[in-house]
Amino acid sequence: MSRFFSSKYSNLTPYTPGEQPNNMKYVKLNTNESPFPPSPAAADYTANYTRPLNLYSDPTCAELSAKVAEMCGVGKDNVLLTNGSDEILNFAFMAFCDQQTPAVFADITYGFYPVFAELNHVPYQEVPLKADFTLDVPAFCTPGKKTIFIANPNAPTGIFLSTDVIEQILQANPDNVVVVDEAYVDFGGVSCIPLTGKYKNLLVTQTFSKSRSMAGARLGFGVACSELIADLNTIKYSTNPYNINSLTTAAALGTLSDPEYTKKNCLEIQRVRTYTTQQLRSLGFEVLDSTANFVFARHPQKDGKALYEELKARGVLVRHFTVERIAHYNRITIGTQDQMDVLITKLREILEA
Ligand code: PMP
Repeated sequence: MSRFFSSKYSNLTPYTPGEQPNNMKYVKLNTNESPFPPSPAAADYTANYTRPLNLYSDPTCAELSAKVAEMCGVGKDNVLLTNGSDEILNFAFMAFCDQQTPAVFADITYGFYPVFAELNHVPYQEVPLKADFTLDVPAFCTPGKKTIFIANPNAPTGIFLSTDVIEQILQANPDNVVVVDEAYVDFGGVSCIPLTGKYKNLLVTQTFSKSRSMAGARLGFGVACSELIADLNTIKYSTNPYNINSLTTAAALGTLSDPEYTKKNCLEIQRVRTYTTQQLRSLGFEVLDSTANFVFARHPQKDGKALYEELKARGVLVRHFTVERIAHYNRITIGTQDQMDVLITKLREILEA
């Protein structure tokens, strides 16, 4: 830390992204990316995009916003595009949390939530998941001013909460914003986007990083009533009006022109997830039932960190978290069938050694 770093950040512990190694070829199952390339239409649209790069990108992202709104079945004033869904989540902490309005989220969930809270100097409360890693729903339905963040499916557990339960939380919190982070909803979950017409306190966030194979292009979005979107736009125009670059816009328009490709990939990930879960269980792993593009697993006879390290030494990267409650687990991204076969072979070797 330099002597110039503002004291207001001296206690900030930044988010630790999963490893992105450049120096060795790994079977990379650690950051929940898609193993499939983007639709070929993404490259076509990018090559033929006519907005020159010497001009700024369109701050309103009008064309792409209209397409995303159409995909979601909402109006164009109900959508805001952001630089990854991380950006809209940060905007939500900025817009809807303050000293009197703490952020409330599960103890085991997306690790960026506490970082956003710290960054924005807002108090936060972590509600412990139940012993089976499901959400303690009544704890989110208590009175009091707060802004609720729920990843659904949750990460790193992969557990999905039905829209009925989300609705119960919305009804118990008519005066609080509820943010439902649906980064992984396309792998078998059901989106709450249709509820945004009914509940003016609901913000749903999604991403192009997972099901649409565009993690490197950085595109996310939020869907809500026009008033919440207007608030988030105030934050956007106060930080980075050109938050979506022209190349990402072109690639996303291409991706959205080919929904069949996305659908096929999501179904394949679900098929390989079922296969991987069965294989892991037959090796003695306890695997949570996942609705995401990853599984969360532990082996009763093998320490989680040791397993992560032994896999890494054999060229397979998975994600291990040091948080005590989940230190025995690893989160394993669902890759291609071939990648998962390598994983299973390496695990068998490790367990037999
Ligand atoms: N929410 C959750 C639960 C995630 O796991 C991630 C991915 N790290 C994100 C949001 C953010 O993804 P992105 O910024 O790539 O859209």
